[in-house]
Amino acid sequence: MACLPSMFCTTCSTPTIPTHYSDKIPNFATFYDAMVQELLNISLKGRNSFGVNATADRIVEFDDDASLLEYLTVHKAENRGRLAVLGGGNNILFTGDFHGTLLHPTGGKIAVTAENGDLVSVRADAGVDWDTFVGWCESNGLWGAENLTAIPGTVGAAPVQNIGAYGAEAKDIIDSVELLDLETLKPATIAGCHCGFGYRDSIFKGALKGRIVITAVHFRLSRTPQPRLGYAALEDKVAELGEPTLTNIRTAVRTIRDGKLPDPAVTGNAGSFFKNPVVENATAERIAAEYPGMPSFPAAEGKIKIPAGWLIEKAGWKGHSRGKAGVYERQALVLVNLGGATGADITSLAEEVIADVERKFGIRIDAEVNIW
Ligand SMILES: Cc1cc2nc3c(=O)[nH]c(=O)nc-3n(C[C@H](O)[C@H](O)[C@H](O)COP(=O)(O)OP(=O)(O)OC[C@H]3O[C@@H](n4cnc5c(N)ncnc54)[C@H](O)[C@@H]3O)c2cc1C
Repeated sequence: MACLPSMFCTTCSTPTIPTHYSDKIPNFATFYDAMVQELLNISLKGRNSFGVNATADRIVEFDDDASLLEYLTVHKAENRGRLAVLGGGNNILFTGDFHGTLLHPTGGKIAVTAENGDLVSVRADAGVDWDTFVGWCESNGLWGAENLTAIPGTVGAAPVQNIGAYGAEAKDIIDSVELLDLETLKPATIAGCHCGFGYRDSIFKGALKGRIVITAVHFRLSRTPQPRLGYAALEDKVAELGEPTLTNIRTAVRTIRDGKLPDPAVTGNAGSFFKNPVVENATAERIAAEYPGMPSFPAAEGKIKIPAGWLIEKAGWKGHSRGKAGVYERQALVLVNLGGATGADITSLAEEVIADVERKFGIRIDAEVNIW
């Protein structure tokens, strides 16, 4: 159940207002020292994994939620254009310059907040690099995040699309999310059970889209080994390495990913560009009758998930390009910047692919990437 009317949790034990927010706003003199940095007319080229050229009117980097609150309070009355949040830019395609203010979390704290036998609660700032967090879990012998190794981005973005890979999703370990409401400037904590998590989806992409900034995430991890090796390729790779330890699982995931996905530092991309479509059983049966061996997975409500990469490949797009935008030659789910592509080049290729898949299979695939 999502707690929409009052927006934030009132029905579970999670406190709606973290105690530290009851403190007074910190001293203005400390405000611009280290906690908040304002950058004007900034290039976004090195701040988005597609590597497309664009600029932002303003980026506000903050490493602490209280100083962000003060910054927004001080500037509330000014018209500063659109307000949005930029993490690592690994799931955003800029189709033009960004006219407004991008809030960018930089805080890097990770801390254990409670231990209860086997269970360990950990709080991480939104600005922590996701794989640094997973590596921290490994170093501390904590299970739960290891299958999500090497997903590029920040901790604060993980709940937004409920990142997932190799049979695990962020929702499995997210206890609660600390955030700041950008309209009311009220901080709050929302329990994981009220985040509306689904396949690459959450309340942060729905009712709360554009309305909040996530400032920290609380995780629920375990000291007891819980290897999840449901993916055959992962199980085989771990077996090659030895026991299913945290280190071996992380190494196996990293190896498999490196073989399938282009490195954004070399070839601009945002991982999977499209979501896998979830269709009625009858639709899946119709396509499978024409294409025996069609891969598919059971999804919620008796529906069927068909890999979008397979549909795009069968439609003949794998390895094809339109100018400087292309469909990756090793994984058709990934669109790539072959060098110098604009956001418009990439969206226009995406639209062609979507239309062609719809024409050939009668299924519409949707973008997973946020197109701005
Ligand atoms: C090579 C590659 C592989 C990938 N593999 C996977 C994968 O296996 N599984 C998977 O799920 N994803 C994958 N992705 C997508 C991406 O890594 C995730 O979506 C990641 O969470 C993006 O993090 P980010 O910090 O870069 O977010 P951004 O791209 O900066 O932002 C993404 C969205 O989240 C919002 N957002 C970001 N931070 C906050 C915040 N603090 N508060 C509120 N909103 C916020 C933004 O406004 C935007 O709407 C991959 C991407 C690449 C480039």
